[in-house]
Amino acid sequence: MLSREAIQACISRVPGPDGKTLLDQTAAASAIVIAADGKVFVTLTVPAADAAPWEKVRLAVETALRGLGGAGAASVTLTAERAPSAAPPVSFKPDGAKQPAQPIKAGIPKLAGLAQVRHVIAVASGKGGVGKSTTACNLALGLRALGLKVGVLDADIYGPSMPKLFALKGQPEIVTGRTLRPLEAYGCKVMSIGFVVDADKGMAWRGPMVASAITQMLRDVAWGQLDVLVVDMPPGTGDAQLTMAQQTPLAGAVIVSTPQDLALIDARRGVAMFQDVGVPILGLVENMSFFICDGCGKRHDIFAHGGARAEAAKLGVAFLGEIPLDIEIRERSDAGLPVVVTAPDSPPAQTYRQIARTVWSGLEKRTAG
Ligand code: ADP
Repeated sequence: MLSREAIQACISRVPGPDGKTLLDQTAAASAIVIAADGKVFVTLTVPAADAAPWEKVRLAVETALRGLGGAGAASVTLTAERAPSAAPPVSFKPDGAKQPAQPIKAGIPKLAGLAQVRHVIAVASGKGGVGKSTTACNLALGLRALGLKVGVLDADIYGPSMPKLFALKGQPEIVTGRTLRPLEAYGCKVMSIGFVVDADKGMAWRGPMVASAITQMLRDVAWGQLDVLVVDMPPGTGDAQLTMAQQTPLAGAVIVSTPQDLALIDARRGVAMFQDVGVPILGLVENMSFFICDGCGKRHDIFAHGGARAEAAKLGVAFLGEIPLDIEIRERSDAGLPVVVTAPDSPPAQTYRQIARTVWSGLEKRTAG
């Protein structure tokens, strides 16, 4: 396996954007991660103002690393520095400690695969298990039902669930070079790390690897023309999520929460994280909001109710809707038969479709404004 020093030496010999000055004489800083399987992940931190010309440097570093004997595969990502004039905002880490975050949207080089994508939106949650992926899938299908061209990127690489939710198996084909063709189901284009790694094998992803893998899926997938690309984020508000929110040209974020107080604390962190990096919050969704007993028809608020609506009002963001705890949602999701397409008139499906309408009008308004 290659040493960090050998990788650093290789990077430093690559010319910078002027084609002459070698990287070790430029201001670019690099972070190197060597995965257990020998794959090399490099992040180049470059000045925000001229991030675009660094794209060819990124490719050159990738080529140089591949030429080194012993490097299994190399992936290089650019991240841009915050403009010096911008005041550092504050983000909330899971341990409650405040950390500076960097809004670097202005410096994001346009990712090739996204050239024809109108809006990229994130579906996020402060923690796992609240129904984020189920919501992302049905929201995407609700947008599709509006006649829009929709893609879904399963960035929840700790627990990719889109292959199951969309009943998709198989591997994406290579279109050209390293560009992959997304799979398709129910009229949506879908890409998931679950198509390329065995979802049953535990994967020990580290923060920078998560960010690199996601950027690669955004960049190297032939998404084609889309109105909306829905990104199912990894749960939580750690470094990987923050990097992803910084590096992706997100038009907005939808935050999913269950109604209890504890879940809402995490949801609040999610809202704060996106706001810190300048991503608008499209709204909060309350999942598992209530339960209608199919025996007695009575409504039960199993995890309490209304917390997300109240939280949204407190935070000054939109409230998008309440999705019931519903056995049909669970059963159909597990079978790869999402309710929005297979039970479109059911109350939960109608709620998802209403949420999709609100999200779409929010996106269009922002574009118009
Ligand atoms: P996350 O992405 O937040 O980890 P998932 O979307 O994978 O959560 O959902 C976790 C589990 O809860 C899944 O089995 C899913 O089918 C189920 N689930 C999600 N939302 C609902 C709901 N509204 N009613 C019933 N089951 C749900």
